[in-house]
Amino acid sequence: MLVNLSDVLTTADKTEDVTATLEMETYDCRLGTYKVVRKDPVSLHISNTGNGKAHVKVKTFVTLLMSCDRCLRDVEHAFDLSFSIDVHAPSEEIDEDADENIYMEGYQLNVESLISKEMLMNWPLKVLCKSDCKGICKICGKDLNLGQCDCDTFVPDPRMAAIKDIFNANNKEV
Ligand SMILES: [Zn+2]
Ligand SMILES: [Zn+2]
Repeated sequence: MLVNLSDVLTTADKTEDVTATLEMETYDCRLGTYKVVRKDPVSLHISNTGNGKAHVKVKTFVTLLMSCDRCLRDVEHAFDLSFSIDVHAPSEEIDEDADENIYMEGYQLNVESLISKEMLMNWPLKVLCKSDCKGICKICGKDLNLGQCDCDTFVPDPRMAAIKDIFNANNKEV
């Protein structure tokens, strides 16, 4: 959704509160495609900060359907977004603001791409169905949260193996 900021950008000391609606039904990024299970209206508080310039406070809440990193079960992850950016009219050449101004299309703010970027910045390092998820067995694929399987998952510690070798070598010399 595009929000027209021309009034605020061109009127000194003007402030505006706008509620925008996100169009995204899925969230697509290089990590994959995620279903949007909940999205709140995006609240924008826009204030003029000088000729052709404005400060935008953004607040919204988006929930994506993700999967547990360990057991692949569905997990709903909520992005509680609250941030602000400085934008300017296309006629204003302000170098240090160039980064944030990529969300402007003329006098309009592209809320969709702004929120998408902010979600990526807040992407969780780990998605777990619960903090102590036991994951799935690498051999038989059983969900270990439902109980142990009978697979032999013992992996010898390579450091212990090295010590054993030294120990065996010494024994042979004796
Ligand atoms: Zn899990
Ligand atoms: Zn197993």
